[in-house]
Amino acid sequence: MEGSMLTISLGIWMELPGVNYRDLTPGKRRSVSNDRATPDEISSYYKNYVKLMGLQKNFVDNAYVTSVQKLHRSHKSSLGTEKNSVNGQLNGVTNGFDYCNKNSTENDQNGLVNGFSNELQNGMENSSRSGDIGEEGEDKRGKEGVRESIGVSQGLSQGLWEVRGYQQLQGDTHVPFSLFAENVVLATGASDSPARLGVEGEDLPYVFHSVRDLGVAVSCQGNLGSSSDPVLVVGAGLSAADAVLCALNHRVSVLHAFRKRADDPGLIFKQLPKTLYPEYHRVYHMMCSQVYPASPIANPTAPSSSLFPDYTSFPEHCVLSFQPDMHCVMRGSNGVLRVFKVSMVLVLIGTYPNLFFLKEQGQYLGLDPSRPISCRQNPVDINPYTFECNAEPGLFAMGPLVGDNFVRFLKGGALGIASCLRKRLKKRIEKNRKLIAEEGGCGGRGREGSGGGGGGFV
Ligand SMILES: Cc1cc2nc3c(=O)[nH]c(=O)nc-3n(C[C@H](O)[C@H](O)[C@H](O)COP(=O)(O)OP(=O)(O)OC[C@H]3O[C@@H](n4cnc5c(N)ncnc54)[C@H](O)[C@@H]3O)c2cc1C
Repeated sequence: MEGSMLTISLGIWMELPGVNYRDLTPGKRRSVSNDRATPDEISSYYKNYVKLMGLQKNFVDNAYVTSVQKLHRSHKSSLGTEKNSVNGQLNGVTNGFDYCNKNSTENDQNGLVNGFSNELQNGMENSSRSGDIGEEGEDKRGKEGVRESIGVSQGLSQGLWEVRGYQQLQGDTHVPFSLFAENVVLATGASDSPARLGVEGEDLPYVFHSVRDLGVAVSCQGNLGSSSDPVLVVGAGLSAADAVLCALNHRVSVLHAFRKRADDPGLIFKQLPKTLYPEYHRVYHMMCSQVYPASPIANPTAPSSSLFPDYTSFPEHCVLSFQPDMHCVMRGSNGVLRVFKVSMVLVLIGTYPNLFFLKEQGQYLGLDPSRPISCRQNPVDINPYTFECNAEPGLFAMGPLVGDNFVRFLKGGALGIASCLRKRLKKRIEKNRKLIAEEGGCGGRGREGSGGGGGGFV
C-alpha cells in the first residue's frame, strides 16, 4: 500500500487480542464514522504488538523459504523395525542440518543453523509444556520421558516437514537454513504473483503489475510528473482505484481501461458505503462520468482530443498489445481499435499466491487440484474448524490462501490452528502417560525404553 492510502477496514477491526489498537495510535482518529488507518499506523501497531507481547523470539526476520517437503515414515513396521526407521529418520534430520553446515561458507552459519535447530527444539519443548498445564506433582523423569516422546516420536509418526530456505543478512549475504517441524502453517498471502493479461509487449520496461511501482515513479527519485504522457491503469478493482488516486494526487493524467461496463453490479465500488470510502467513490464517479466517447474514431493518431484532462475511463475495453515505442493498443466493445501513447502502464487485475516451495506448487491442495490456487476461485481446501489441509495432514493454511482476504479474519485462522494443535498435544500427552503407566506396571521397561529413545517411539 502507498503511504497516502487508507485501509479498507477501520483500524480497530484489525486489532489483535490483548493490545488496544487506539492505545498504540493515540490522537489519530479521523472521525467517529471514519477511522480507517494508514499503512504506517498499521505497520507500527503490529511491530509494537510483537514487542509488547514479548514475541520477538518467535520471529526470524528476512527469512525466505525455498522448500517445504514432507519426510515420510515407512508404514509397515513392527516395533523393532519401527525403531530403526525412526532412527533412520533422525539420521535424516541430522544429515539435513549437516548438509546445511557443509554448504556453509561462514562460521556465522553454524550459529544460524543451530539457532533454528534450538528454536525447533524449544518450540517442541514449549508446546509440550503448554500441554502440561495443571499436571503438577508428576514424576519429573516421567514428564521428561513424555516430553521426549512427544517432541520427537509423535512428529515422526505422521512424518516431519523439512523446511529449507535462507536468511538474508546485511549486505547481500544469504545464509541457508534447514529445519524440521511436525506441523507447518502456510500464511504466505495471495499477492506474490500478479495476474497478467498475456498480451504482446507485457514484459516491456514501461509495463508494471504493482501499485508500488507507480509510487516509485511519482516519488522524487522517479521520472513521472504532470508533464508526462498519461499513465494507463488496467483493471477495475481497489488496487486499480488506488493507482488512479496515486497518479491523480501527483497530477499525472490517467487512462483507465477495464473489461466490465461502468454500471456492472459486480464492481467492488457498489459494495462500499459512500460515507466510509469517499475516495473510491470519487474514482467510481469518474469511471461512470468521464468516459471516452463511444463513437468510433478510425484515425488512431487523433484520439487524444477526446480525452479528459486528468482522467478518462475506457469501460468494456481490453488491451491488445503494448508496443516498444510506448503506444498501447486497446479494443472497445464495438470492436474499434484505439492507440494511445503512455508513459507507464499498470496492469492491476488481481494476484495469485506463489507456492513454488511446495510440491506441485501447492496446486494439489486446492479445492480443484487441476487449477492453480487462487484466493477467490480456488482456495486451499481446508477443514473449516482446524484449518488443516484436507489433502495434507500436518499442513495448515490461513488468510487469503483459504479465501479469508482480510487481516481481521486472520485471527479466526490462527485461533483455529492453535486450538487444534493444542488439543492434539493434550491427547498425546494422555496417550503417552497411559503408555508410561502401562510400561511402569511391567517392571520398569518404560524407563529403559524412553531413555534409549525406543519405547518413546511406539
Ligand atoms: C492494497 C490492499 C489493501 C488492503 N486493505 C485491507 C484492509 O483495509 N483491511 C483488511 O482487513 N485487509 C486488507 N487487505 C488484505 C490484507 O492485506 C490481507 O488479507 C492480509 O495481509 C493477509 O495476511 P497474510 O499474512 O495471510 O498474507 P500477507 O500479508 O500477504 O503476508 C504474507 C507474507 O508471507 C511472506 N512470504 C511469501 N512467500 C514467502 C516465502 N517463500 N518465504 C518467506 N516468506 C514468504 C511475504 O513476504 C509476506 O510477508 C488489503 C490488501 C491489499 C493488497
